[in-house]
Amino acid sequence: MKYQRSSALFKEAQRYIPGGVNSPVRAFKAVGGTPVFVKEAKGAYLYDEDGNRLIDYISSWGPLILGHAYEPVLEAVIKKAKKGTSFGMPTEIETDLAKLALSMVLNMDKIRFVNSGTEACMSAIRLARGFTGKDKIIKFAGCYHGHADAFLIQAGSGAVTFGSPNSPGVTEGTAKDTLLARYNNLESVDALLEANKENVAAVIIEPVAGNMGCIIPDDSFIKGLRERCTEKKILLIFDEVMTGFRLAKGGAQEVLNIKADIVTYGKVIGGGLPVGAFAARKEIMDYLAPDGPVYQAGTLSGNPLAMSAGLAMLTALNEKPEVFESLANKTEYLHQGIERILSDNGIAHQINRFGSMISVHFTEKPVKDFEGAMKGNNDTFKKYFHGMLSKGVYLPPSAFESYFLNDALSYSDIDFTLEGLTEIVSDLK
Ligand SMILES: *Cc1c(COP(=O)(O)O)cnc(C)c1O
Repeated sequence: MKYQRSSALFKEAQRYIPGGVNSPVRAFKAVGGTPVFVKEAKGAYLYDEDGNRLIDYISSWGPLILGHAYEPVLEAVIKKAKKGTSFGMPTEIETDLAKLALSMVLNMDKIRFVNSGTEACMSAIRLARGFTGKDKIIKFAGCYHGHADAFLIQAGSGAVTFGSPNSPGVTEGTAKDTLLARYNNLESVDALLEANKENVAAVIIEPVAGNMGCIIPDDSFIKGLRERCTEKKILLIFDEVMTGFRLAKGGAQEVLNIKADIVTYGKVIGGGLPVGAFAARKEIMDYLAPDGPVYQAGTLSGNPLAMSAGLAMLTALNEKPEVFESLANKTEYLHQGIERILSDNGIAHQINRFGSMISVHFTEKPVKDFEGAMKGNNDTFKKYFHGMLSKGVYLPPSAFESYFLNDALSYSDIDFTLEGLTEIVSDLK
């Protein structure tokens, strides 16, 4: 495959945009080489600026769960755009999306829309602090909750890809209020609770982690968190920016059968436009301005185009819940294929999968937390990534990201992917 045009566009972009990108992982720093500039996409396929077709396993990092340029979403957005793109005044469609979203998820009475997952998580902890009157939050190493200061402490995703899970620019004052525990490790949580008696407002977690590759929570771990939070009057925040409306209608809360106190959303809920949201029971949400004292706002929040994309997306998922099973089956098929090919060739690996999230870690030991994920062989990952790219398969360009399948992907696309892997697997040795 040729990447001449992508190369030229990247050079030009670097002159004007830091690193040539508007979000770091796109720059291919973790895998080397030139990022692929995309021209357009339809269904399961990306078409780049050099005319290559790529099977897409990131789906815009999650939102496009039904594939690219999904017709009902396009139609809704185009129709809405013709009636004006932003008002800064209430519109009916905000209530339509709120009602539908709340009817699909469990245990949530009210929802507030924002513009990104970052904003949702940032607002959720402010609300938790305001509601409980306590300061500290507990987060887990390797979990990513967006790029607000409070979360850039041992963060996953792009932050760890670039070797700076702790970012300069985050003050000590902010950092001291973020306590760090280990995923799947209740003892680490207990130690923090013991040392910070009475002052923990919230525990925030990716209920199925996807920003250190895919990591599945042990049943006892996630139940244990719920019990501790209830007992100590700490709010349990599920960051479902990735898992919400992806693992099931009701997201991770439904599949893990755990009720969180606040849930954050993003990605799928915007259908490919910028939307984030956070939801909770009434008594918590009533703490938010203008009903309550905790301030939170946004000029473009609830934007009609974004709402119409989200509404079309959630309507489709609500009407066809079998999508979630179909996606999980496709992901399982991919899993079995990769497993077979890597095992037959004696390549040490772990595959973690939950629903339509999956990641391949090139290590011998099971990956259950950030430390485990860090043990993956990044040289093997780079060869795997570029090998697959040369075969027309676009995987996340970092070992610390989950793949996100979309339902436009067919079994023959997956077979094509596996044939590509068969052809390049000897290079991984
Ligand atoms: C993507 C992501 C975020 C951040 O969302 P943005 O829209 O990129 O700000 C937060 N939490 C999780 C779990 C995510 O996957």
